[in-house]
Amino acid sequence: MDDLQQPSTPGLVVAVDGTSGSGKSSTCRGVASRLGLAYLDTGAMYRAMTWWMLEHGVDVHDPAAVAARCGEPTITSGTDPAAPTIHVDGTDVAGPIRGEAVTGSVSPVATVPQVRERLVALQRAAISAAPQGIVVEGRDIASTVWPQAQVKVFLTADPAARAARRAAEEGGSDAAAVEAVLRSRDAIDSGRAASPLTQVDGAAHLDTTHLTLDEVIEEVVALVRAVEVDA
Ligand code: C5P
Repeated sequence: MDDLQQPSTPGLVVAVDGTSGSGKSSTCRGVASRLGLAYLDTGAMYRAMTWWMLEHGVDVHDPAAVAARCGEPTITSGTDPAAPTIHVDGTDVAGPIRGEAVTGSVSPVATVPQVRERLVALQRAAISAAPQGIVVEGRDIASTVWPQAQVKVFLTADPAARAARRAAEEGGSDAAAVEAVLRSRDAIDSGRAASPLTQVDGAAHLDTTHLTLDEVIEEVVALVRAVEVDA
């Protein structure tokens, strides 16, 4: 059998953390589709929170202002890997959360502990609601959101390779400018006090710089199968 339709480990959680633009989303969606698992993009939730703050004129560089309002938006994530969705107060924000305004403001919003507390609670609820198993991508999944995940992966890639991929995805934007934004987000994400981006003990490190997407998916699927064999 090439693909596992039903994971033999109920409640299997595959935690995929890593730097911005290392290929997490494409990898996680591919792995979830191959294995019949759900998929949760936690970055989209931080982006949705940021979109709401910008829409409501909240100064995203004022942690107290962000903390005071972060309980207000209702954020809902659809976990089908073939068509993941993200809504804020019923509005589909899948497009706007990928725009420059949100991308440039999301890391400061994600440093605010009250934002993280609220979104981590939503993420844990989404994971608990996926008994068929789930692939979860983010920065703090293995360290904070779900340390008991059976499979933990840490994805990285050279900043220049990440920027080149992202610029190509964005239809030929300036790779040097994209690289500067990625490096700045990495620095904030790794340096913040509240659950910084970090590789936990027991996580498999995959450097995707010289790998194709299919090769990365294959590696993660192999890690999942190894756990299933051991179970
Ligand atoms: O994954 P993505 O690049 O869409 O995430 C956007 C931002 O959300 C990250 O740069 C990071 O600041 C924040 N984030 C986070 N914790 C997560 C997922 C994303 O802080 N689990």
